[in-house]
Amino acid sequence: MQRRTFITGAAGAAAAATATLSARSAWAKPEYKWKMVTTWPKNFPGLGTGANKLAELIGDMSGGRVQVKVYGANELVPAFEVFDAVSRGTAEMGHGSAYYWKGKSEAAQFFSTVPFGLTAQEMNGWMYYGGGLALWTELYAGFDLVPAPAGNTGVQMGGWFNKEINSVADLRGLKMRIPGLGGEVLERAGGTPVNLPGGELFTSLQSGAIDATEWVGPYNDLAFGLYKAAKYYYYPGWHEPGTVLEAMINKQVFDGLPKDLQSIVLNACAVVSQDMLAEYTARNPQALQTLLNEHDVDMRRFPDDVIAKLRELSHEVVAEIAEKDAFSRKTFASYQKFLKQAREWSAISELTYLRARDQA
Ligand code: CA
Repeated sequence: MQRRTFITGAAGAAAAATATLSARSAWAKPEYKWKMVTTWPKNFPGLGTGANKLAELIGDMSGGRVQVKVYGANELVPAFEVFDAVSRGTAEMGHGSAYYWKGKSEAAQFFSTVPFGLTAQEMNGWMYYGGGLALWTELYAGFDLVPAPAGNTGVQMGGWFNKEINSVADLRGLKMRIPGLGGEVLERAGGTPVNLPGGELFTSLQSGAIDATEWVGPYNDLAFGLYKAAKYYYYPGWHEPGTVLEAMINKQVFDGLPKDLQSIVLNACAVVSQDMLAEYTARNPQALQTLLNEHDVDMRRFPDDVIAKLRELSHEVVAEIAEKDAFSRKTFASYQKFLKQAREWSAISELTYLRARDQA
């Protein structure tokens, strides 16, 4: 019996080796050669490397039948032209975040993140089981795109400031890089939001062109060296409680794939979605220790009255999106319904548990 098992094992190993060989030879002759344009600097930790991982996974899972080459921001197209480039087929695939495309549709922002909205965990619930992904797919179909969640940062940080925020009045006149709905909230509080791609944050902050910038969290903020250009590091990231990174595939390209490759591409996105959140969950606390202990960063919490005002303004801004067009109204209704349920459940599960754990 043992010998037979051994023979089967050896035969299995030989078969596996043959399979590896044929997979390798398939790598030399891919059936589909794609370009993936991204809004991130090439190889940027977490975001850029997440896009790289997605390309590798699609290659591995398809046995080399789909080969994806990743381009950083400005390599093929500028960061904020990713959407158009994939839409018109200049590139087959893209990686970014939907709030960058609010100029295409206000509703796009719901598929990225909403100030004081769903956390990463809740966002996954809405996307996969609450109708979010179906709505997103419907919206992007109008632009010849197929979207998929492909990453999540978890709760972000409030950002890097060269001015202290001690009251709501300190937001007035504040020139801050903050994209999406968070930017609209800041504007309503009297500030001036600007949107800049990640690669321009450090120099803009250092030169004084902006007073403050948010980026992601300790892991990514450390990589950009933002602590060298700002005095204070504020939390929490009220404006981005669980930002979804997106993959988008040109719809004609996607529709032309055989069913197995369609499934591989979408499932590779789901794997990267989970992997990226795990990476941020592991690396943010490590990076925060480095910022605090090695770089003596002055970390501060936004005052309660500032958070209260931002929350009030956020509710106004988000509700107004529903008035923009029929699709935005439908998306807002779906998101709000899910948020209501999620809040009730999270209050007795995550929130109560985290408080119980920390008070021990
Ligand atoms: Ca951010």
